[in-house]
Amino acid sequence: MLIGVLALQGSFAEHIKMLNDMGIRTVELRNHEDLLKYPIDGLVLPGGESTVQGKLLRELDMMDFLKESIQKGLPVLATCAGLILLAKEIANGEKPHFATMPVRIRRNGFGRQVASFHADSDFSDIGIIPMTFIRAPYVEAISEGVEILASVNGLIVAVRYENQIGLSFHPELNNDYRIYRMFIDIIESRNLCAASYKIAVSSLAWKP
Ligand code: GLN
Repeated sequence: MLIGVLALQGSFAEHIKMLNDMGIRTVELRNHEDLLKYPIDGLVLPGGESTVQGKLLRELDMMDFLKESIQKGLPVLATCAGLILLAKEIANGEKPHFATMPVRIRRNGFGRQVASFHADSDFSDIGIIPMTFIRAPYVEAISEGVEILASVNGLIVAVRYENQIGLSFHPELNNDYRIYRMFIDIIESRNLCAASYKIAVSSLAWKP
């Protein structure tokens, strides 16, 4: 299994360390050639500054390729600015980026002054996990098909939509591997489906 980590700006090195600690191979995605070169099974969109990342994705001609891959089912783990990149709508009328996840996001939703804070909160089936928020967005509205994975102070901070997981916080900063495990499980079950589909197709093609 190979996971591509978008490495244009922000906290990509920390995600790579977490995944490598788990024995997962990673590759840094820095330009269009990297997208063509590496057959990735999953994608991590790190935190940072979404406007900068969006601009670089367009300038480096990476936006359309990645958008199409996500729409075709490539599993994505997006954190903070990464979640903003996925959102179909950004409050305040800012131009969306990938726009593959039907949610409305509020950037710096916890207030610009609240630079960062920590919470221990319930996360879907996993249980209580540590969450570090840094000038974090929250999810203001969701469409059908979006599952809420976690809320803090009544505000949605983690969602899943099909192959896409979006988090307002930074799991790469807390030495807790459980969200990564969930992401890997999604990738493995997708790979398994693809493999059994190939076997089914090849057995149909088989003639005695
Ligand atoms: N506030 C940043 C943005 O709007 C996101 C912060 C983060 O990724 N930690 O892009």
